[in-house]
Amino acid sequence: TKFEEFEISSSLQKAIKEMGFEAPSPIQEKVIPEILKKHDVIGQAQTGTGKTAAFGIPLINDVNSKQKHIQALILTPTRELAIQVAGEFQKLSKHTKVQTLPVYGGQSIGHQIKTLKRGVQVVVGTPGRILDHVNRGTIKLDRINTLVLDEADEMLDMGFIDDIEKILKNANEERQTLLFSATMPPAIRKLSNKYMTKPEHVTI
Ligand code: AMP
Repeated sequence: TKFEEFEISSSLQKAIKEMGFEAPSPIQEKVIPEILKKHDVIGQAQTGTGKTAAFGIPLINDVNSKQKHIQALILTPTRELAIQVAGEFQKLSKHTKVQTLPVYGGQSIGHQIKTLKRGVQVVVGTPGRILDHVNRGTIKLDRINTLVLDEADEMLDMGFIDDIEKILKNANEERQTLLFSATMPPAIRKLSNKYMTKPEHVTI
């Protein structure tokens, strides 16, 4: 497969080229078409496999940058990963007007609220701080199209399960849900059975 074979915008194709990606990685080859078809996906993949772009490319393709509300939420276990994922999204969306904001604990909430008010379409953050914003009404999830649980096993290991469930219950029910995890312990299966619809399993 070539990136040109995916039905994605020319601005994304251009950014992918500039990032030096020559061909889709195995996870991208399998996952990108499924996400573009709006299927829920469980991706079992380690870091370093290109999993961020595997969900980032189709997700950015479907953001409407003319609309200023939050259209996608990515949950990550750590602030470091939130920053890394947001950085990859910013590179992929370089030739679009899509705005991505990393949101994590330890950063001034007042500053985050100010930035959120200016309008961002994609939020990448840690469960505790995201839930704080949801409770304050400064992040609204009723119009999101996609919710991603990145490194889901790590998030559960860190004790985020209750926060994640509260966030999932607050999110638009019509959304697409994507879950990435290196391992599939029973707690992850339980989560996917409860909050995902006919997920496609992709293992690499
Ligand atoms: P990840 O697994 O998402 O942490 O990605 C690992 C690294 O691979 C990141 O630096 C990506 O920018 C890079 N990468 C992702 N997809 C590709 C690709 N198709 N070709 C070359 N590098 C890639």
